[in-house]
Amino acid sequence: SLRRILVCGGAGYIGSHMTKYLAARSIEPVVLDNLSTGHRRMVRWGELIEADLLDADALDRAFASRPPFDAVMHFCARSLVGESVQAPYDYYLNNVSGTLNLLQAMQRHGVDRIVFSSTAAVFGPPQAERIDEDHPKAPINPYGASKLMVERMLADAAHAYGLRSVSLRYFNAAGASPDGDIGEAHDPETHLLPNVLRAALGTGLGLKIFGNDWPTPDGTCVRDYVHVDDLAQAHLLALDYMTHHPGAHAFNLGNGDGHSVMQAIRSVEALTGRSVPFEFAPRRSGDPAVLVASSERASKELGWQPVYRDLESIIETAWRWHKREAAPASSSAPPGSATS
Ligand code: UDP
Repeated sequence: SLRRILVCGGAGYIGSHMTKYLAARSIEPVVLDNLSTGHRRMVRWGELIEADLLDADALDRAFASRPPFDAVMHFCARSLVGESVQAPYDYYLNNVSGTLNLLQAMQRHGVDRIVFSSTAAVFGPPQAERIDEDHPKAPINPYGASKLMVERMLADAAHAYGLRSVSLRYFNAAGASPDGDIGEAHDPETHLLPNVLRAALGTGLGLKIFGNDWPTPDGTCVRDYVHVDDLAQAHLLALDYMTHHPGAHAFNLGNGDGHSVMQAIRSVEALTGRSVPFEFAPRRSGDPAVLVASSERASKELGWQPVYRDLESIIETAWRWHKREAAPASSSAPPGSATS
């Protein structure tokens, strides 16, 4: 049974929602994070071990903590497509070498289950309207390549050492905890929905749409947005699944609907009643035109049932969080959160 889980990257956006989700189900999360992009103030469910995956001794100390971990959930990564094109060594070092260190530490300490954060970026240009698990994997940026290399390591480790794993390929993670507790707080923020919401609030740096000449209906890129709490749900289901399914598995997670950048802006305007100023800018390197998931396998095999199926309900949760973030610090910040 699952009592205690090491959540690597638990101070980040998706990882922090995972810790809240686990705690609500009486499973203890322990967060391991180097706080390079995560925030101490997001670690509110479970202890924080401040450590880097590249530091094997620190990993040994973390795994020596008692009682032992029943499994690992691994959200640590450099995760920006554009940045990965500019700085590929950072991506291979952190995402590939870092994960290898983690897997070796798990082996030294007898932990044999891991849920891995993978990505739609492992696929490259879609050859079908919806991308299923069997779609060819041909990443067009170092970020996607680094994640695919880890999927391969997990498959090899299943064969050689009996490691059990599920790779979850997120399409576009979005939204926030519906009570407005935690949300997406990247700095600088590069993701679409937070930037659109900041533009609606007048707090952003000026919204740019990267390309209006893509081969899509309105010329802007199409993505499949999926709520963070639905991703958290899939992680817990993945751990259940491993109990009866040894080996390495992978599932695509999305809602199966594509929304263009322009449509996302219009949805935010409709939902908030505010206008969203933007300008068109050149394409961003590494971006594919369209990424939409088929998640039939996750629903059949894992029993995954997303709660937030449409873009509006996802935006609504994110809007609540962004409004709160933009409010004066005294009314929104819990005590002791001044530094991050
Ligand atoms: N995008 C944009 N302006 C922004 C941020 C993103 O036009 O300020 C576009 C981006 O080019 C991509 C889509 O929105 O086509 C989603 O980008 P995001 O960075 O949110 O996620 P990704 O698909 O890269 O994981």
